[in-house]
Amino acid sequence: MSIEVKNITKLYGSQKALNNISFKVNKPEIVGFLGPNGAGKSTMMKILTTYIDASEGEAKVNGFSVSTDKQNVQQSVGYLPEHNPLYLDQYVREYLNFNASIYNVDSKRIAEVIVLTGLAPEAHKKIGQLSKGYRQRVGLANALLHNPDVLILDEPTTGLDPNQLVDIRNLIKSIGKEKTVFLSTHIMQEVEAMCDRVIIINKGEIVANKTLQELRNDKEQVVIVEFDYRVETVFLEKLPHVKGVKNIHDFIYEITFVTSEDMRSHVFDFAHDNELKILQLNQKNASLESLFHELTAETKTIQE
Ligand code: ADP
Ligand code: MG
Repeated sequence: MSIEVKNITKLYGSQKALNNISFKVNKPEIVGFLGPNGAGKSTMMKILTTYIDASEGEAKVNGFSVSTDKQNVQQSVGYLPEHNPLYLDQYVREYLNFNASIYNVDSKRIAEVIVLTGLAPEAHKKIGQLSKGYRQRVGLANALLHNPDVLILDEPTTGLDPNQLVDIRNLIKSIGKEKTVFLSTHIMQEVEAMCDRVIIINKGEIVANKTLQELRNDKEQVVIVEFDYRVETVFLEKLPHVKGVKNIHDFIYEITFVTSEDMRSHVFDFAHDNELKILQLNQKNASLESLFHELTAETKTIQE
């Protein structure tokens, strides 16, 4: 087991940032730690990387205790903190050389991580001259220097443009083939793009822990349909496999089905049989999205 968290509670003064949480992460595995802002993600990551101590409970990384074996934990973990603090005046190589000297990492390994993270064309530049995507690569290269088994990445893709996002996602995915990656995000699409499993945290408590395969097997599907006239939701509820119907606006309805069959044709037949016209019809597999909204419903701070 690469990460083992047992009954961790963290208090900041009287505020409970983490409330008795437990989970495990295997190797190799990419686990997304998903939750709205303020949920406690960074706090958990700082505990796992020994930057702060838990108030109660126990956590182990690579079998080493974060409270009694900090040095071995630090050897086992590569950490990309939130906001990736970098010295903008330093050259990429200079920055990596300096950190390598702290960890006793040889120059062969520095060259390796530069290639691995695709930094070669930019390695001679000052960090301040790099795009946000390349700065994230520098942060990742730094986290990988001492070849740790476990990577802890706090919001590694926040603030990247769509191209940079694809590059960094691919990089993290390839790293995750050999290592344990525990990454936080407040964007659910990130989890679908990168992760094997998702742990959802809300207000310091774990509210879901599921593999993406399990989520796909839930086979939940949402169809949004707009008719040219009002329909009583009870009639739509009679369609096969319906879990729920919501009238979200004027004549627009959101129908949730639980089935792997594409239900749009049933909705089309329904309209035809009832002499309604369809003005729009969309379908999406919404397991993760609906789960996330359901579980973190009270918090309205999700941004994308
Ligand atoms: P997330 O990373 O999910 O956005 P954090 O772990 O940063 O959440 O924060 C969890 C909660 O703990 C928030 O309510 C935050 O304001 C609070 N918090 C975080 N760090 C501190 C601190 N050093 N002192 C006091 N409160 C803090
Ligand atoms: Mg955070």
